[in-house]
Amino acid sequence: MSETSNKSLEKRTYGTELGFLTRAVHTGNDVDSETGAIKRPIVMANSYELPYDPTDLNWSEAGKNLYTRNGGANQQYLQDKLASLEGGEDCICLASGVGALSGLFFALLNTGDHVVFSNVTYIAVYRLLTELLNKKFGVETTIVDTTDLEAVRAAIRPNTKLVHIETPGNPTISISDIEEIVRIAHEHHALLSVDNTFASPYNQRPIELGADFSIESLTKYINGHGDAMGGAIIGKKEYLDIIRAQSQINLGATISPFNAWLIMRGAVTLPLRMRQHNSNALALAHYLESLPCVSFVAYPGLESHKGHFIAKKQMPGGYGGVISFGLKADHDTHNKFVSHLQVITSAVSLGHDESLIVFLGENDERQYLYPAEFHNGFFRFSVGIEDEADLIEDIRQALEKTGLL
Ligand SMILES: *Cc1c(COP(=O)(O)O)cnc(C)c1O
Repeated sequence: MSETSNKSLEKRTYGTELGFLTRAVHTGNDVDSETGAIKRPIVMANSYELPYDPTDLNWSEAGKNLYTRNGGANQQYLQDKLASLEGGEDCICLASGVGALSGLFFALLNTGDHVVFSNVTYIAVYRLLTELLNKKFGVETTIVDTTDLEAVRAAIRPNTKLVHIETPGNPTISISDIEEIVRIAHEHHALLSVDNTFASPYNQRPIELGADFSIESLTKYINGHGDAMGGAIIGKKEYLDIIRAQSQINLGATISPFNAWLIMRGAVTLPLRMRQHNSNALALAHYLESLPCVSFVAYPGLESHKGHFIAKKQMPGGYGGVISFGLKADHDTHNKFVSHLQVITSAVSLGHDESLIVFLGENDERQYLYPAEFHNGFFRFSVGIEDEADLIEDIRQALEKTGLL
């Protein structure tokens, strides 16, 4: 390699004086010092060469190139990018979104600690907090409607260690006020974690609003292509070091280097994809709201949404790509409608490039936690980045064939 090309081999830093789009492209990606390649390679090795005298090495230490469960090159590149995009000091990437959630809860909660958490959360959060950590390890939990600040305040106890919220919440798209809940949690010396998966850091950055942790299922918008699983916790290094030691190294939810590389690649176009998700979802929400056969539409970009003004304040990038809505129809008519969709696919998950729809809620054990309009079954619709007109037409023709239009 020539002398002149070597200047680019120094690690470049992309500080927050650079914009979100620039950092989405560049942060975590440097010229590879071995080959001069301008994209980082995938390092699949399980193990790294030891120093001359390895006797003093701590086998449970993170952050050194030692063994891939302790941390690897591709994981580190992705962590650098996500810490920057979320505006946090440090980041840990793990094998899935649930790996990140359980990693946080397991490392920070002890027997006798109390957690307050949203009535609307990812199902695994509900299981982890009300069943596993509660019954196996004696962690106390209270479920509250976190759209109600007085209810949050009333639920706090002297031993409350953590408040965990999800906003927008899966699946009812409820909006909780991050800044107000930060204030309540911190007044009582509790930490606040926010599951930011539905918004992504393009639309909402909880750490900048004062939250202690932002959690992402990277499986969703950040990877964005529906082909790799991962999770991330962003927050202060003092806490992330504990989570890394306990939950990554000793519970073992390490992300595969290949998945970290795929997600790194997907994350580059996060801002462009989110703009299209945001604008498509807003158009689809307005369309659905205009139809007489639709019983309700929950989307924070609609003025009819109870959390619209809070969303407007805390989601400057847009309102995300997920809509929940109901049809005035019986059980089988819902299935018929889905069977007539041509562009939109019936599948779980969300935040993929393609539109996905799932019929939920008819027999949901957590129904008692949701508003009444969600009790008779509803759709969670993850609006993709296809042409807006094609998505509207797909819904129109499926409703027509089902006899609802
Ligand atoms: C999907 C999802 C998770 C879990 O993520 P996985 O990557 O599937 O483990 C957590 N929180 C929310 C809000 C999600 O939508």
